[in-house]
Amino acid sequence: MTNMKGFTSKIVHSDRLSEIKHGSLHKPVHATVAYGYDDARDLAAVFQGTQAGFTYGRQVNPTVDALQVKLSAMEGGLGSVCFGTGMAAIGTLLFALLRRGDHFVSSAFLFGNTNSLFMSFASHGLEVTFVDATDASQVAEAIQDNTRLVFVETIANPRTQVAALAEIGTLCRQRGLAYVVDNTMTSPYLFQPSKVGASLVVNSLTKYIGGHGTTLGGAVTETGAFDWRTFPNIYDTYKGADARLWALTQIKKKGLRDFGAALSPEAAHELAIGAETLALRLKRQCANAQAMAEFLDGRSEVRRVYYPGLPQHPEFSRAAGLFRHPGALLSFELDPGIDIWTFMNALKVIIKSSNLGDNRTLAIPVAHTIYHEMGAERRASMGIDDSLIRISLGIEEVEDLLDDLGQALGRST
Ligand SMILES: *Cc1c(COP(=O)(O)O)cnc(C)c1O
Repeated sequence: MTNMKGFTSKIVHSDRLSEIKHGSLHKPVHATVAYGYDDARDLAAVFQGTQAGFTYGRQVNPTVDALQVKLSAMEGGLGSVCFGTGMAAIGTLLFALLRRGDHFVSSAFLFGNTNSLFMSFASHGLEVTFVDATDASQVAEAIQDNTRLVFVETIANPRTQVAALAEIGTLCRQRGLAYVVDNTMTSPYLFQPSKVGASLVVNSLTKYIGGHGTTLGGAVTETGAFDWRTFPNIYDTYKGADARLWALTQIKKKGLRDFGAALSPEAAHELAIGAETLALRLKRQCANAQAMAEFLDGRSEVRRVYYPGLPQHPEFSRAAGLFRHPGALLSFELDPGIDIWTFMNALKVIIKSSNLGDNRTLAIPVAHTIYHEMGAERRASMGIDDSLIRISLGIEEVEDLLDDLGQALGRST
């Protein structure tokens, strides 16, 4: 892969560049749980880690491994490990690296289930402080003696706040903290967290990377930026020759192997096919988002639009400096005179659904669905208005989307 520089070139050629039978251009689906060896000494060597090879389907599978290689190339990382879902990737990473009494700092603007997971960790003996991560000084103030890592998302869903990604990277380096970035909303096509000093990158493959709304998956990628010799929680058995891989090894063993949230080879195959068109899809989706944000911004039925590609967005210039495009998700608040249900039910092309990163455009009334469980008080603290609607842009021709919004807004007054 040495002479290929393009993001998409690397993805579409990655399978055939390692050993593959029959000249197959795709890594086949290896539907197997176990692997047989002619010589039992080889079996032992693979288990002891002195020889490369496959042990058991919960830990490793050739089809999943091929996807891991692709993801590492996409993120510019040293290695990756896949999971059955994005949540499994996040939960397993923290479970494997943190211990009772440890503290971590997290962005307060989080994917809802990540927020819920961190609350559970808090009741299991880990301490977490939520801060406004658009401001690195708030992260700095939250750091304690027992702080082990900082966790942020790139563009927050649904209000599209952009974390102070570069400044937090500098802070983590100065303070010797691991820096975990959930890159789901941007994907490695729009942004590589390794460029701002992230140590571990999380992606929900379910969203833009898989891209078709058919398959769940998640991944953690090691960037090599952090010196894990300074991290107190690595078990001696995982301290191999290359200290940059200690955390990933511990996540694979204590996390994936023992917790068991493995990605299936069939899912890995579908996600790998999806990944091939990531750049093409996202380019179109981001252009659609920009056009829709500008359209909504000009409508009297709409009170406020949140999209980092609009000049009035508080992090407009930060997003322009960090990301190839400002994302494919936006949200907006309706004017108080508009009934949210009348408006939403008038939509004909845009589908009323959760999820994001599909090829179809999806809309959801945020406070009443994905943010319902957290209650009115926390919603208010996160700036989630009852009229907030999130839109995940698909790849349709934008005229169809704007016509649909226009007619639905017109019918709701
Ligand atoms: C969807 C999402 C997740 C969780 O991914 P799943 O694959 O649905 O488990 C995590 N983080 C962000 C930012 C997401 O959008």
